[in-house]
Amino acid sequence: MEIYTIGSGTGVPSLRRGSPGTVIRAGKSVMLLDSGSGTLRRLLEVDIDFSEIDYLLYSHFHPDHTADLVPFLFASNYGSERKRTRELCLIGHKGIAHFYEGLKDVYGKWIIPQSYTLNIMEMKDKEIAFSDFSLQGFHLEHSDHSIGFRVTTPGGKAVAYSGDTDYCPNLILLAREVDLLILECSFPDDRKVEGHLTPSLAGRVAREAGCKRLLLTHFYPPCDDCDVKGAVESQYSGTVIVAEDLMKLAI
Ligand SMILES: [Zn+2]
Ligand SMILES: [Zn+2]
Repeated sequence: MEIYTIGSGTGVPSLRRGSPGTVIRAGKSVMLLDSGSGTLRRLLEVDIDFSEIDYLLYSHFHPDHTADLVPFLFASNYGSERKRTRELCLIGHKGIAHFYEGLKDVYGKWIIPQSYTLNIMEMKDKEIAFSDFSLQGFHLEHSDHSIGFRVTTPGGKAVAYSGDTDYCPNLILLAREVDLLILECSFPDDRKVEGHLTPSLAGRVAREAGCKRLLLTHFYPPCDDCDVKGAVESQYSGTVIVAEDLMKLAI
């Protein structure tokens, strides 16, 4: 699998860190997990065209994670010389169909697929098998519609993606012994906010889950003024990577 961090920040405008967006390539399949503002354009900086993406996965519906869904759907109708014909899967917690219907009420025909099929899948605590990977969803502690995703290849490699979350038992299940845990790390230890993690809590999650590598992302600006890595490493002895925009990893 190849993993690209498109945006390692939040909804706060930042020259260093774009809004959340992560790409996972598994075999011939390309997934985009969350698409905050600017994601569509930043994909081009790692040579990924939005029309290559087969699966759009949303961890929850907050604007910093979903803002580029409308531009994605609009560009799929009008964005290139050849209209999209490949099926697109839109995957999220129970509620994603309702969320999409709401957008349709606002934008109408501009985002309704013209030349391709949009397959909407609501998932929670179940497993779905696709051709190149299987997907599990775990409800997490952030909003009513928060879900973390675990992607497993037929060869047994696994990546977990938390989206936004606080510490909770399901987060440990999501990340159990994965090769890579992509975990939010919103605020420094001394500025903990409910519904989010700090570096020390992220380290605790990685240790309890026994993940092999930890990729931290979703940094609010104060995190860039503290020793994130040091705080995590006081809790977890595995490899810790602090994400930057456009970073690529392979497992
Ligand atoms: Zn967020
Ligand atoms: Zn959120």
